[in-house]
Amino acid sequence: MKLATKIIIGLVIGAIVGLVLNLTSPSLFDTLNTFLFTPLGKIFLNLINMLVVPIVFFSITLGVAGLGDPKKLGRIGAKTIFYFLCTTAIAITIGLVLAYVIQPGTIGEYDTTNVEYKAEEAPSVTETLLNIIPTNPIQALAEGNMLQIIAFSIFVGLGITMLGKKADTLLRVIEQGNELMMYLVNLVMKFAPYGTFGLIATAVGSQGYGAIKAMGLYMFVVLLALFVHALLTYGSTIAIFAKQNPFTFFKNFAPAMGVAFSTSSSNATLPVSMETAQKRLGVPESISSFVQPLGATINMDGTAIMQGVATIFIAQVYGIELSFIQLVTVVLTAVLASVGTAGVPGVGLIMLAMVLNSVGLPVAGIALIIGIDRLLDMTRTAVNITGDAACAVIVAETEKKRGTI
Ligand code: ASP
Repeated sequence: MKLATKIIIGLVIGAIVGLVLNLTSPSLFDTLNTFLFTPLGKIFLNLINMLVVPIVFFSITLGVAGLGDPKKLGRIGAKTIFYFLCTTAIAITIGLVLAYVIQPGTIGEYDTTNVEYKAEEAPSVTETLLNIIPTNPIQALAEGNMLQIIAFSIFVGLGITMLGKKADTLLRVIEQGNELMMYLVNLVMKFAPYGTFGLIATAVGSQGYGAIKAMGLYMFVVLLALFVHALLTYGSTIAIFAKQNPFTFFKNFAPAMGVAFSTSSSNATLPVSMETAQKRLGVPESISSFVQPLGATINMDGTAIMQGVATIFIAQVYGIELSFIQLVTVVLTAVLASVGTAGVPGVGLIMLAMVLNSVGLPVAGIALIIGIDRLLDMTRTAVNITGDAACAVIVAETEKKRGTI
C-alpha cells in the first residue's frame, strides 16, 4: 500500500477513535491519550522537527548555488513574494466577504460579560523583518529562526556560486548533506501513519463538542472560506499559469496536506511538503527549496482567512460596525500578521490580537474562539502549505523548469 494511502487511513482512524472515545468514555480516552496517542504523535513530531533546520539550510544553500546566477534568484524571489502577498490579500478578502454574508456573530448567543483573553506578546512584524540578517548564524540555527536561516543560507549559496571551483568540495559536502536529509525524510515518513493517527486522536478526542456546537457557524464560515480559497485561488492560478488540471495538483499534493492537517505546523510539514512537491508535482529542487521554506515562514493564507473571519465575527458579537476604511486596515494588518505568524500550532490566534487592535476591537473576543481553534488550525495549516506548493509549481512553470510528473 502507498504511504499516502496509509497516512490518510491513519488520519481517518485517528479521528474516529478520538470522536468515539470522547463521546463514550472520556476516562478511557485520557488513559489511552497519555500512554498511546500523545507518545505516538510526539515521537513523530520530534522525528520530523529534527530534520527541519538541516533541510532548510542544506536545500536553500544548494538551491541558490544551483541557480547559478544571482539575477535568477532575484527574479524568482520577486515572483514568489508577489504571489504570496496577492494570494494572502485575496484570502482575507474571501474570509471577510463570507463572514459579512453569513453573519456568524449575529446568530446565536454569546456571553461576552466574563470573557477575558490575555494577549501574549506577539513579535512585532517590523522587528522580525529587520532581524532577517542573523548577527549569529549558529544561534539562528540553534534556535530554529527560519527567516534568519533562510537569509544565511542564501548568502552561503551565493558565496559558493561566486567562488566557483574554489568551493567545489564544500558544494559536494552540501549536496551530500542534502541527499542524506532526503533519505532521512523517507525513513522518518514510514512512521507518519502512526504519528498522524496519534495526533488526530488527541486533537479530536480532547475537544468539547458543546463548544463546537456553539461555535458551529463561525467554524463553518472559516472552513468554507478555506475551501473556496483553495479551489478558486490556487485552482485557477494553477490552471492558468501552470496549465495543469487543479485536481491533479490537489491529488498529488494530498499526502503533505494530510501531514499538515495532523501536525498543525507548516514548519514541521516542510520536509514532507518539499519532497512531495519535488517528487509528485515536478518542481525542481532549486525552486522548491527556496519557495517552500520561505512560504512556510511568511505565506499563511489559511491563517489570514481565519483572522479575517474572526475579526468580523468578534465585531458582530460585540455589535460594532466596521467602516470601509477599517476593513481595508484589516486586510493590510492581516497580511502583515500572517507574514509574522510562525509556522507552528496556534500562533495565528496570537497574531489576531494585532489585527483586532488595529481597528480597536476588543482583544478579549479571542477567548470566544480559542476553544475550537485547534480544529481550525489543522485545516488552515493544510491550506497554508498548499499555497506554498502552488507558488512553487507556478514559479517552476514560468521559469520553464518544471519536470515531467
Ligand atoms: N499553525 C499554522 C501553521 O503552522 C499557523 C497558525 O495559523 O497558527 O501554518
